[in-house]
Amino acid sequence: MTNGAPFRADAALARRRPGIDYEAVPASLAARAVEPGDAGYHRYTASYLRSAAPGLVLRPQTPAETQDAVRFADRHRTVPLGIFSAGHGLSGRSLNHGGLVIDVSAINHVDPLGGARVRIGPGARWIDVARVLTPLRLAISSGDYGGVGVGGLATAGGIGWFAREHGLTIDHLRSVDIVTAAGELVHASANENPDLFWGMRGAGANFGVAVSFEFEAVPVGRVALAQITFAVTDLATFIERWGAAIEAADRSVSGTVLLGASRPGSTTYAMASVVIDSDQPDVVAERLRPVLEVDRIAQQSVSLATYEEVIGAFFEEGSVQQGQGEPHSHSAFVRHLGAGTSTQIAALLESGASPFFTIRSVGGAVADVPSADTAYGWRDANFSLIAFGSPSSGIDQWWGRLAPHFEGMYLSFESDTGPDSLVRAFPPAHLERLRGLKRRYDPSGLFRDNFYVEPGGSPLA
Ligand SMILES: Cc1cc2nc3c(=O)[nH]c(=O)nc-3n(C[C@H](O)[C@H](O)[C@H](O)COP(=O)(O)OP(=O)(O)OC[C@H]3O[C@@H](n4cnc5c(N)ncnc54)[C@H](O)[C@@H]3O)c2cc1C
Repeated sequence: MTNGAPFRADAALARRRPGIDYEAVPASLAARAVEPGDAGYHRYTASYLRSAAPGLVLRPQTPAETQDAVRFADRHRTVPLGIFSAGHGLSGRSLNHGGLVIDVSAINHVDPLGGARVRIGPGARWIDVARVLTPLRLAISSGDYGGVGVGGLATAGGIGWFAREHGLTIDHLRSVDIVTAAGELVHASANENPDLFWGMRGAGANFGVAVSFEFEAVPVGRVALAQITFAVTDLATFIERWGAAIEAADRSVSGTVLLGASRPGSTTYAMASVVIDSDQPDVVAERLRPVLEVDRIAQQSVSLATYEEVIGAFFEEGSVQQGQGEPHSHSAFVRHLGAGTSTQIAALLESGASPFFTIRSVGGAVADVPSADTAYGWRDANFSLIAFGSPSSGIDQWWGRLAPHFEGMYLSFESDTGPDSLVRAFPPAHLERLRGLKRRYDPSGLFRDNFYVEPGGSPLA
């Protein structure tokens, strides 16, 4: 061995996959690289939702090693390429079958820089970020779940518990360092490479591997977390009233409701989680009251919690990812949950096509940022919908029927990564600009495995 790779027995070498020049793995990466026959390989056989069997996992620990990994990948265009931060991608494309994976989970620093600034590596999970920021009474609105990685979420959007009050995660991003397809380490901010900075905030995975983010956090102390189970008999009316209550609520209120398949006329239990950014009991009670009046309540609890406790509520440290097969989900934004939209969603749920359906609040501060300012463009939506199902459940047909009510979609909640999804994920002018950026930063499509934007458009995007 000349490149520092560990000794591998013949049985392990026999499991190597075609199309990968294993002997050419750069010396900087060889010792930590993982192949199908290696002890550490099992970690890469499943992400959160999808099974996998990559041919080689490169595990850089620094931006320079990430550059080596990207240059190696550039010489391996015939096999898939996954970029892996924490493995929670719904499309599951951070891992693959038979291809390369660049796993940046070891680049996981969370470094407060003074004031509200913090520098974070892509491999940190949002629970790690909250653990550092909570004692400083700071937070970055991320998602609802602490296990999600910074790399995947902060390059796509970030719809979280403070969305209505503080906007998206990307709205707090001040700069990002990226290893581009050319293997260059590029700094992007409002002042340096602003075009790339624009693309990284919504379609980042198309332009390179993010290796460091600098955010501006916001002051957050203890907040109220309400868990409410509604016993719903008229689903369409419930959805419409939920929408009206959330839209009318103070911006400090953000909420998600989880629904499942139901039978017409029978009671459905709708599980809602609502965060109110206040630790004053009377303020919390006043802001929560209209939400509690949406329908009959079967169960409720309200507690004061730190942000770390909120996003850690369902998170189990050390849990192993066990995704199987192919996830199948659809995503959409709606501006309002009016009678027509609510009736159609109720019909979908009563058909049994989706056993897991969520309605998350957006709106508020998300809409304060002009749509043209970031690649994430659908800022007028008040709700983000996700429906899980299976192709045989009829979910695709139902989604098609609901389409006239939709106004775009959030790419991170969609499992279909094809061109039709891109057209829904970005407004036309945004997509055109992204194609121009792709032509400039990745003209030959190295980063093509997750929502691939075809190069085109104007190179001066
Ligand atoms: C249980 C669960 C809860 C979730 N809740 C929310 C939520 O509340 N709000 C929300 O907005 N989203 C949420 N998501 C979606 C989540 O934001 C995305 O799936 C995100 O991509 C996951 O990031 P990751 O780094 O863990 O994923 P990975 O699987 O590691 O990566 C997913 C994709 O992101 C891209 N990517 C990853 N790392 C990098 C990098 N360093 N540079 C460039 N591109 C990269 C790649 O395209 C990759 O295929 C949730 C997902 C799950 C599974």
